Amino acid sequence: MNIRAKELSKIYGSGDNRVIALNKADMEIRSGDFISIMGPSGSGKSTLLHLLSGLDHPTSGSLTYDGKDIYGMGDKELSAFRRKRIGFIFQQFNLLPVLTARENIAMPALLDGKQPDQKYLEELAKLLGISERLTHLPHELSGGQQQRVAIARALIAKPDIIFADEPTGNLDSKSGGEVMEMLENIRVKMGKTLVIITHDDRIARRADRRFVIMDGVITETFAQK
Ligand code: ADP
Ligand code: MG
Repeated sequence: MNIRAKELSKIYGSGDNRVIALNKADMEIRSGDFISIMGPSGSGKSTLLHLLSGLDHPTSGSLTYDGKDIYGMGDKELSAFRRKRIGFIFQQFNLLPVLTARENIAMPALLDGKQPDQKYLEELAKLLGISERLTHLPHELSGGQQQRVAIARALIAKPDIIFADEPTGNLDSKSGGEVMEMLENIRVKMGKTLVIITHDDRIARRADRRFVIMDGVITETFAQK
């Protein structure tokens, strides 16, 4: 899948409160890319990721997935497209507290009116080391385990691309390291495209393409041939 962002901008507020969160971002993401994005707090990283994944709409600019204009879709069509084609991992995990790990993972399929592929769900749980935790509620799990449940949820619909917004930002370095290792493993094993925001230089340097964002302006700083 080929994703193309053209002059994507997001402006919040007006007058004295006007903030240019993202300033004419141009970006092309190709199938299989492993991309990292770094930048200081408030530089526009989350804004960019939300726009690239269709979670939010830009003030101006366009975004296409294989030539299809994403922001031209209606809300329902876009939600369905996102559930099927795009996985998103949040820093705060965003699991539903009243659902078990298994139910959280199955949620995107259920929202699509489909029964989740239980065999695939169990395969993912095994890959992520949470097979013994599927009947637990989120508060009964460690942060690392919650994030691994969230990764399984992001993968259940077999999307081509995974966006991760500081996925290890709420974890200690040991569980953060484990989560990153699993994400990278899954990326290679399943041939996913991965776009990750991180504060951690060591994580950023593992990516094949690296971007830095400052005051809403994005620059590619490294691309492996
Ligand atoms: P980062 O993820 O790099 O910390 P964000 O993308 O969250 O940065 O925010 C970029 C800028 O946009 C910041 O100045 C932030 O305060 C502003 N911003 C983000 N979301 C909103 C919003 N909903 N309303 C107003 N300003 C916002
Ligand atoms: Mg952010």
